[in-house]
Amino acid sequence: MSVNKTGIIRIDQELCTGCRLCAGICPVDAIEGVKGQPQTINYERCVLCGQCVQVCSAYASIFDNRISSREQKIHERNMLDSVKEPMFATYFTGNAPEVKNALASKELFTMVQCSPAVRVAIAEEFGMPFGSLTPGKMAAALRKLGFTRIYDTNFAADLTIMEEANELIERVTEGGVLPMFTSCCPAWVKYLEQDYPELISHLSACKSPQQMAGALFKTYGAQVDGVDPAKVYSVSVTPCTCKKFESERPEMKDSGYRDVDAVITTRELAQLIKDAGIDFNNLTEGDFDKPLGTYTGAGTLFAATGGVMEAALRTAYELLTRQSIPDLNLNFVRGGEGVRITTVKIGELELKVAVVAGLKNVVPLLTAIQAGKADFHFIEVMTCPNGCVSGGGQPKVLLARDKNTAYASRTCSAYRHDENSEYRKSHDNPDMQKLYEYFLDDYNSHRLLHTKYTSRKLADVYPRCS
Ligand code: SF4
Ligand code: SF4
Repeated sequence: MSVNKTGIIRIDQELCTGCRLCAGICPVDAIEGVKGQPQTINYERCVLCGQCVQVCSAYASIFDNRISSREQKIHERNMLDSVKEPMFATYFTGNAPEVKNALASKELFTMVQCSPAVRVAIAEEFGMPFGSLTPGKMAAALRKLGFTRIYDTNFAADLTIMEEANELIERVTEGGVLPMFTSCCPAWVKYLEQDYPELISHLSACKSPQQMAGALFKTYGAQVDGVDPAKVYSVSVTPCTCKKFESERPEMKDSGYRDVDAVITTRELAQLIKDAGIDFNNLTEGDFDKPLGTYTGAGTLFAATGGVMEAALRTAYELLTRQSIPDLNLNFVRGGEGVRITTVKIGELELKVAVVAGLKNVVPLLTAIQAGKADFHFIEVMTCPNGCVSGGGQPKVLLARDKNTAYASRTCSAYRHDENSEYRKSHDNPDMQKLYEYFLDDYNSHRLLHTKYTSRKLADVYPRCS
């Protein structure tokens, strides 16, 4: 175990003006430096959320011959040579070139998954309005790029809900550690491991949807297609820069291979589509493949803050009461940045829940839990201000005044997608039901779907140095 020094998020020292806009948005005070001078990132604090990438407005001028060439910067950032966008001072290192190479390989069987928030934002890269909902065009573009199986993280989001709802019920009814924290936001998990390792037992043992899907691709998915798992190349498209880090965690190899081979952001997928000369706006709608591309509206809700909670409550209600939930739209957990607290009655149970959007907002809750003064059962935490729709790998909203409109439009599209779905409760996903019937054991038991967390506190990582 080592502290992160991979530098997935970096500041270009030639371009940084020292405005410290990024320091203002960083949730963990990881940006260090004097105003007016190039800044640096403290990787022992950074949670790789990419919010600094979203906010930075300093970029390379083509007239400035004191800085390295554009070709050099493209190389340092591991971007495709064809990328035309400006080079901003803060950036994430890419993985699109590896994915392009894998797609050109005749040896590999490529499988791709897309996070819920990608389909409500990718069209912005092609000039469509904020929040345009384009799952069909996205699926068609992935097929044109050459992916063999177009699967979906939303399938695994439904699976996460089945596992997490059952884990919550077990903890509440059998006296487990409470409150239980969601574990699908990797920046939040990393933060807890770094700053509050004593609270790790509160994290749900469920892997994130990305990692559940990756583990299934190289086991169940390989079986479905009758291919050697060693030949499966598994790609995740995500709004989140920290998902690159999560996929590299050494323990994420439960399939017997690295579960997710490459993670690209929404922006990188758009770059691949442009690189291939695909006319995204005029594509005929395509479909996701079965079985691992089937999803419900509940899975899609993971795109927005409160979405995991809403999806989990829909399922927990029906599992516990054996009755249909009276209203599927749980508006009391929806909202924007901040904390929402409510009590939900499910049968005889009164569940006290909290939804936290924006990592800084979780600190008072953690302090209260440490002091034994918080009586919550379940807490959802998302690092980014509006959840995944506002992730660090999403299309960059260049004007600050447009940010709220962009995030609200993407969120509305996620809710619209849910409302128009054939199934709106994770436990109704027919292909997930088959997965449990034919492949998985009972809930909360399968190693492909569960994980453990470890302290990343410096004193624990390097005990002799403390
Ligand atoms: S990285 Fe960008 S936002 Fe941060 S100080 Fe430098 S120029 Fe400003
Ligand atoms: S990636 Fe997130 S945590 Fe890291 S420096 Fe940027 S804003 Fe801060």
